[in-house]
Amino acid sequence: MTVLVNPKALVDHAPRDFKMLIDGRWSEGTADPIERVAPGHGVVVSRFQAGTRADAERAIAAARKAFDTGPWPRMTASERSGILLKAADLIAARAEELAFLDAVEAGKPISQVRGEIAGSVDIWRYAAALARDLHGESYNTLGDGTLGVVLREAIGVVSIITPWNFPFLIVGQKLPFALAAGCTTVVKPSELSSGSTVVLGEILEEAGLPKGVVNIVTGTGAEVGAVMTSHPDVDMVSFTGSTGVGKLTMANAAQTLKKVSLELGGKNPQIVFPDADLDGFIDAAVFGAYFNAGECCNAGSRLILHKSIAEDVVKRVAALSEKVRVGDPLDPQTQVGAIITPQHLEKIAGYISGAADGGADVAHGGKALDLGRGQFMAPTILANVTPDMPVAREEVFGPVLSVLTFETTAQAIEIANAVDYGLSAGVWSKDFDTCLTIGRQVRAGTVWMNTFMDGASELPFGGYKQSGLGRELGRHAVEDYTETKTLNMHIGGRTNWWMPQTEKLA
Ligand code: NAD
Repeated sequence: MTVLVNPKALVDHAPRDFKMLIDGRWSEGTADPIERVAPGHGVVVSRFQAGTRADAERAIAAARKAFDTGPWPRMTASERSGILLKAADLIAARAEELAFLDAVEAGKPISQVRGEIAGSVDIWRYAAALARDLHGESYNTLGDGTLGVVLREAIGVVSIITPWNFPFLIVGQKLPFALAAGCTTVVKPSELSSGSTVVLGEILEEAGLPKGVVNIVTGTGAEVGAVMTSHPDVDMVSFTGSTGVGKLTMANAAQTLKKVSLELGGKNPQIVFPDADLDGFIDAAVFGAYFNAGECCNAGSRLILHKSIAEDVVKRVAALSEKVRVGDPLDPQTQVGAIITPQHLEKIAGYISGAADGGADVAHGGKALDLGRGQFMAPTILANVTPDMPVAREEVFGPVLSVLTFETTAQAIEIANAVDYGLSAGVWSKDFDTCLTIGRQVRAGTVWMNTFMDGASELPFGGYKQSGLGRELGRHAVEDYTETKTLNMHIGGRTNWWMPQTEKLA
C-alpha cells in the first residue's frame, strides 16, 4: 500500500461542543460530556452531551406529544414534502461541514464522505417525492352492500438508532422516510460520531420542522438506547448496528410488541468464475474489501474464487492492494482512513493472527501501521482460508480479505451460504446462466452481478438471516413507517345476523 503524508495535528481545530435537541430546545446534559478523539489524528475533536435515561424519556414524551397533538402528522403530504426538500438543500449547503465532522470523528476519507453527503441529499429528495405518493387502497368489488378502504397511517413515535461507520448516510436512510410518513422521532447517533447528526437537527429546524418532531439525544446505548427500545410510548424502532445489539433491541422491543426494523452485520462473498472480466473484478475486490477501511456492513470480505484462477487472482489483488492509499482522513487522496478505536484495531489484529495460526497465509499486509498518530491497519489479504475459520464466518470489520476456493457452482453457493449473515453478495462471470443461478440461490438481500457495492435510492436494501429484518430505501420505504387500517363500510340497511334475509323480507 502507499502511505500518504502522516496525519497532521488538527492544530487550528478547537474541539467542537454539541448539544442535544429535545422538544425544540437545545440542551446540555447533566453528566460530563463524551470526548471524541479523532481516530486518524489522536486529538479530541468533538464533545457530545452524555444523555441520560431522563433525557431519553423527555425526548420520547416530546415526540409523543408532537405526534398526538402537533401539526406534523396532520399536514398535507405536499407541506411535509416541501420541508424535506428544503432540508435536502440545506444539507447540500452545509455538505463540507458535515463531511469534515464524519471524517474526523470516524476516521473516514474526506473524498469518500463528500460522496456520502451527496448521496444523502439524493435520498432526502427521494423521500420527499415518496411522501406525496403514500396512499392506501380501495375495494369496490365486495358486493353492493360493501365498500372497503385501506388507509395508511403514520405508525407514531419512531426510535432511530445508528452506528458510527456511516454516521450521516445511515440516519438519512431512516429519518426522511419516517418524516415523510408523518411520524415523530427520537434519534440516537453513535456516541463515537454524533456531530453530523446534531448538525442535522439545526438543519431541520431551519427547514421549518415543528418542535418535538425530531429529537436528538446523544449518549451511550446502555443509557439512552435502552430506553428508546423499551419505552411503551415508542411505536417502532429502526436500528442499524451490530447483530448482537440488534438482537437485544428486538428482545427489548418485544416487551411492548413494537415494530422493529433491523439493519445488521454482513459477511459478504464475491464469487468469481474463470470467464469473468478479471480486470474489472480485481478493482472491485480491492474496493469491496478496503472501502471505509472495511468497516462496512457491505464489505466484500470473502473472495470465493474458482480454483483454476485463485493463485493468479490473489497475486493481482495483492499488486493492486499495494497501490491503495492509506493515511490522513483529511487528505483528499486518501482511500483508506483510520480504524475507529484502538480496541477495534486490536480486535482486527487478533483475527489476522488467529487465521495465520490456523493455517491461512498472509498474502499481503497483516500489520497495524504506525503513522505517528491515530490508528491504522494495512490492507490485508489472507489466502488459503477455510470456511470453518472465524475469519471466514465472522464480521472482522477491518480491511481484511479472506480468500476461499471452489470447484463447482454448487460448492460456491454452499460456501457463500454457510454463514449466519445474508446481507449482500457479488458474482463475476460473463455467463448469463451462471450469474442468474448464483443470484437466485445465494441467500442475501442484494446480489451484484459484475459489479460490487453499487446502490441507488430506488433500490431496496437489507438483509436475510442474521443480517436484519425489513428493507430500507426503494419505493416502499415510507410504507415501513405506517400502520394499515381497514375501513369496512356498509351501504344500505343492515342485514341482521339473527334473522335470515328471506324471513325478514317476508
Ligand atoms: P453497535 O451495535 O455497537 O451500535 C449501534 C448503535 O446502537 C449505537 O448508536 C450504539 O450506541 C447503540 N447501542 C449500543 N448498545 C445498545 C443497547 N443496549 N440498546 C440500544 N442501543 C444500543 O454497532 P456499531 O459498532 O456502532 O456499528 C457497526 C455495526 O453496524 C456492524 O456490525 C455493521 O455491520 C453494522 N452496520 C449495518 C448496516 C446495515 O445497513 N446492515 C450499516 C452499517 C453498519
